[in-house]
Amino acid sequence: MLNRRQFLGVVGAAASWPAVGRAQAPISEWGSPVFDLHFHMRGQTAANVAHLDGAGITSANLLTRAAAGDQVRALQTAAPGRFTWFCSADPSTREGVEALTAGVKSGARGFGEMKFHLATDGPEFERAYALAAELRVPILIHFQEVDHFENEGRWSPGFASSFERMLKTYPRTTFIGHADAFWANVSADYHNEAAYPSGPIVRGGITDKLLGDYPNLYGDLSANSGNNMLSRDPAFTADFLRRHQHKLLFGSDCACTDGHGGGVSQGNNPGAARLAGKCVARETLTVLKRAASPELFRKITWGNADTMLKIPA
Ligand SMILES: [Zn+2]
Ligand SMILES: [Zn+2]
Repeated sequence: MLNRRQFLGVVGAAASWPAVGRAQAPISEWGSPVFDLHFHMRGQTAANVAHLDGAGITSANLLTRAAAGDQVRALQTAAPGRFTWFCSADPSTREGVEALTAGVKSGARGFGEMKFHLATDGPEFERAYALAAELRVPILIHFQEVDHFENEGRWSPGFASSFERMLKTYPRTTFIGHADAFWANVSADYHNEAAYPSGPIVRGGITDKLLGDYPNLYGDLSANSGNNMLSRDPAFTADFLRRHQHKLLFGSDCACTDGHGGGVSQGNNPGAARLAGKCVARETLTVLKRAASPELFRKITWGNADTMLKIPA
């Protein structure tokens, strides 16, 4: 691996290593450093690092319950500079709201993943949106209307009908959208008929419009939902990445063991069988690499997250 001086020596001083980036971040097999915004913490330190190393990922954002602060700090100490942290708790209880606040006070840089059977525009989520603005941290939300498993229930229901009002009502809240309903609604013909719709994208979808209209909305490209959207229509994808290049953040939500598809990558979700036996991180980085220029790739896989979260060097 080349250090920065060697790197510049090889490619010349005109090489674009954007000033906002951490010069000392390693380049990685993907050609530039990669940050995984959506990484659920695993029980063992080694298992966390194994996924990053296996998939060629420089550093990652741990998503945990707010009560997991001690484990997070132990992991951050064991693997310095490789993990930031978002905390999650149920905003319908007072304990949950207190836990979210305490999590941020003790180092969490955002709320997430917020995955609850609570309406997108209900009073519980509104409390979390207001708190995120007050604490100046982003909030990462799982939007899902179609069951993966029988009787699963909807998560943050109401994205297509009600979320825009939240973006308007909470202009100081930084929202990060994720999961099925968020990415399926990039296509204008979507009406909750499937968790992961396929085929060419119809221009003018709700999510595309919201990303364009609201500076406080970002998109987390993780999981089968993000990968599926990026894989449907290559011509659309290239244009979509270019238009929303400042608003998109790479994440994996991958549960594979080794960064190469070992173990179970998408929780045996039958709808996500297209990624069975594959590492979601690798699959999505490969799609991004193909569809985006090196400069855009670096923004989406590092620069945008660095601007938002100040990734540790
Ligand atoms: Zn999720
Ligand atoms: Zn993986």
